[in-house]
Amino acid sequence: MTRQIEFGEKFDSELLAHAPRVRLSRRGIIMGLAAGSVFPFVSGCATNAATGDSQLLLFGDDQIASMAATAWTDMKAQTPQTSNSKLKGRVLNIWDRTIKGAVKEGHINPNDQWDVAVFDTDDVNAFVMPGNRVGVYRGITELTENDDQISSVLGHETGHVVGKHAAERMSVSTAAQVGLMAGQIAVASSDELSKYGSTIGALGGAAVQFGVILPYSRKHELQADKLGVDYMHQAGYDVKQSVRLWELMAAQSTGARPPEFMSTHPDPLRRADELRTYINARGYALI
Ligand SMILES: [Zn+2]
Repeated sequence: MTRQIEFGEKFDSELLAHAPRVRLSRRGIIMGLAAGSVFPFVSGCATNAATGDSQLLLFGDDQIASMAATAWTDMKAQTPQTSNSKLKGRVLNIWDRTIKGAVKEGHINPNDQWDVAVFDTDDVNAFVMPGNRVGVYRGITELTENDDQISSVLGHETGHVVGKHAAERMSVSTAAQVGLMAGQIAVASSDELSKYGSTIGALGGAAVQFGVILPYSRKHELQADKLGVDYMHQAGYDVKQSVRLWELMAAQSTGARPPEFMSTHPDPLRRADELRTYINARGYALI
């Protein structure tokens, strides 16, 4: 029985559980908005150089990294890491080659430091936390058939970092908490947030708590998949294996799965299809 087949989810609950609770009075919000200082650290809307997306970013990379520090420490304290040095070495080697692919693509600074852990559980999962912390579970390495598929997983996680998906999600949650008013401003200025606009509207301003869990959107997942393929290609891995990975995920998926349109997580086979189209369009391979 597979517990999780959508890698990347772990981070969400982990980080938000440790996020500082921000409570703002309505009056404070109105005054803050007027003064442009609800968040003294607002970096506002920015265009992501790697993806070209317009994003609402209320937090800087350093802030969000320090918020995740506790979650990462807890994670490592509570979850056993593999004692299989062969497995660990293999994952680290694939990581090294994949991240060099991202550097070659011009998306990652070669001087960046990363902390990669291989956890000894059956979870078919992997995740990335802000601050360049990457977790891979033994379970996903057992599902995969080759190094190329593991590279696909690691490239996907790197894609979340490059896409600044964590910072954007945190910003969306925060905007939801400060309410409809901030939400409407943000919706108008962010591609990603506009996808959540109706949800935020339906929940209503004051009722929305900071801790509301918004999973990575389909857009984020698909974008991370595609960025991952770019890095695999640069690293010299077989990009076709990314498609195969999602076919394996689909085959592993047991029990009732909500229809894809109802879920924020793309269906594995849809991901395989999207990747096939992307790989052909980029001319990486013909499949
Ligand atoms: Zn993901």
